[in-house]
Amino acid sequence: MKFNPKLINSPLDAADELIDGLVEAYNGECYKVGTRSIVKSNIASEKVALLVGGGAGHEPIYHAMVGQNMADGAACGDIFAAPAPNIVKEAAVAIDQGNGVLFLYGNYAGDVMNFDLGAEQAEEEGATVRTILIADDVASAPPERKNDRRGIAGLVPIVKIAGAASQHAADLDSLADTVQKACLQTRSIGCAMAPGSIPATGTPTFELEEGMLGLGMGIHGEAGVKDIPMTTAADLTPTMLDYIVDDFEKDADVEPLRSGDSILFLINSLGATTMMECLICMRTAADYFEERGIEIFDVMVGPYVTCQEMAGISFSVTRVDDELKELWSMPCQSFCYSKMQGPLDAERHGKVQAMNEGGKSGVKAVTKKARVQAELSRSDSGLSVEQARAMLVSVADAIIAAEPELSQADRDLGDGDHGLGMERGFRALKKNLDPAVSDFSSMQELFKTAGMSLLSTMGGASGVVFGSLFLAGDKTMYGAECFGSHELSHLLNQSLADVMKRGGAKPGDKTMIDALAPAAAVAKEVMDQAIGDVISSVAEAANDGKEASKAMLATMGRAKTLGEKTIGLPDAGAISVSIILKTMAEYVAGLSS
Ligand code: ADP
Ligand code: MG
Repeated sequence: MKFNPKLINSPLDAADELIDGLVEAYNGECYKVGTRSIVKSNIASEKVALLVGGGAGHEPIYHAMVGQNMADGAACGDIFAAPAPNIVKEAAVAIDQGNGVLFLYGNYAGDVMNFDLGAEQAEEEGATVRTILIADDVASAPPERKNDRRGIAGLVPIVKIAGAASQHAADLDSLADTVQKACLQTRSIGCAMAPGSIPATGTPTFELEEGMLGLGMGIHGEAGVKDIPMTTAADLTPTMLDYIVDDFEKDADVEPLRSGDSILFLINSLGATTMMECLICMRTAADYFEERGIEIFDVMVGPYVTCQEMAGISFSVTRVDDELKELWSMPCQSFCYSKMQGPLDAERHGKVQAMNEGGKSGVKAVTKKARVQAELSRSDSGLSVEQARAMLVSVADAIIAAEPELSQADRDLGDGDHGLGMERGFRALKKNLDPAVSDFSSMQELFKTAGMSLLSTMGGASGVVFGSLFLAGDKTMYGAECFGSHELSHLLNQSLADVMKRGGAKPGDKTMIDALAPAAAVAKEVMDQAIGDVISSVAEAANDGKEASKAMLATMGRAKTLGEKTIGLPDAGAISVSIILKTMAEYVAGLSS
């Protein structure tokens, strides 16, 4: 299939350049902070702050939802990739007025991991964070597992309501309660008729047989209910709306939709579906609700949640009670969605300029929270900070050299990007660990820098997973004078706990955990032996774990849809872990020989 040419400069710069353009389009109402976040210029002091965000490429969400009575800030990832934790933290800290920050975003594994880490980092800087996940797509899981659902276009009314509620919310918890209610009352279903294309590769985001329509398909082409033959607007609209109405019926946590109820109704185009098509569906939808005695309190129609030039449409319903009706009726203004545009704030331009020129006016100073550090055992001898630095650089060289092997392993079982992601991360690590760039005074700082280098450059789930591997040193290495057996054991065991907590995978799911868990266990068992002996046993255990991963059936990540086909091949991330630990062992062996 031939795709539309894209009018861009470089695919790799697309996310950054679109944010620059968006700031210009906001014409003073918003400004950019940090790596790639957008923040409202005049946030009312004392308000509870609202942060949204997600990957780029779905414009105008989420970053164009910042504005008057809308979100206060948005953390923006690369194209179709979750924002890295530092981006989330930068946005959260910038909008925090000292009364807490509500994180509100779509339920995707990569987003959850990165936002959770960003929340931890923001909390270290004094912010209080609560998170609500948007999971409105009824096609992605049954009502009994509705927390597993992904977030789609229902986010538009939810963020609009959250923005209004955040203006007067007494505190973070009461805002969270109102937003949770809006989420519970919002259900969506989408369909896809043709894929969009990925800017970096020009390849389609999914494949669909000619003449077929993917009912319930996600915004990136994730599996839906079923593929059906292409049909008419009049036929498809009630079929799709039935899924929403049935879901209200089946979900024990909400009342069925019934005559006399009021709803907000959203028709979203995924990009290529035209306003003409949306309005033709609107005609049928209006009849559908009228027949059931359901009042459409307000309507939104347009391309709000898109996936490049993907053709497809989604419907979202939010049932509104008096409280939600009032919040909905509050005027708002953002690039994505505006309602009864208010007069421009005359003061705004001067204030924005001051912000762009340095410092943020009106943002309350926050005090850093003291970190509670547990007492950990320490080794008597081991590597110096300089030796540990050189060891990590040798690990980086090994990973960079293994890029073809890692790419191939991920091509076999995943999407083929693991080698390139690891290479990108470890190139950044090498650069940041260069003695010409920084001088490390502590082991803690060294490992923190190594972890942050991966976390902020790799993106996606694996950025968090492999970033956590070294970032665990930030928690376990304080006061460590050397890198010995105890420090190695604490590092591996802490990172195992962090990766399992953040990613939800367990041993046996065929991920990097299957190499890390046996390595961490061995490290703990032989912790009192010399580092040279311990690290070689650890490397061996990781290698055995990687070999054992071949026999496992993938149940997490992208490989899970391949089922039985995954048996016989090792997990790409497990190969990476075994290379990392093997290289560390070789470096240590080289020191004593
Ligand atoms: P992506 O899955 O985003 O394409 P990569 O290809 O870079 O990321 O990395 C894939 C590897 O990441 C997998 O081989 C697996 O080892 C690891 N991984 C993915 N998800 C998880 C998770 N939830 N927990 C632990 N490891 C994971
Ligand atoms: Mg991959």
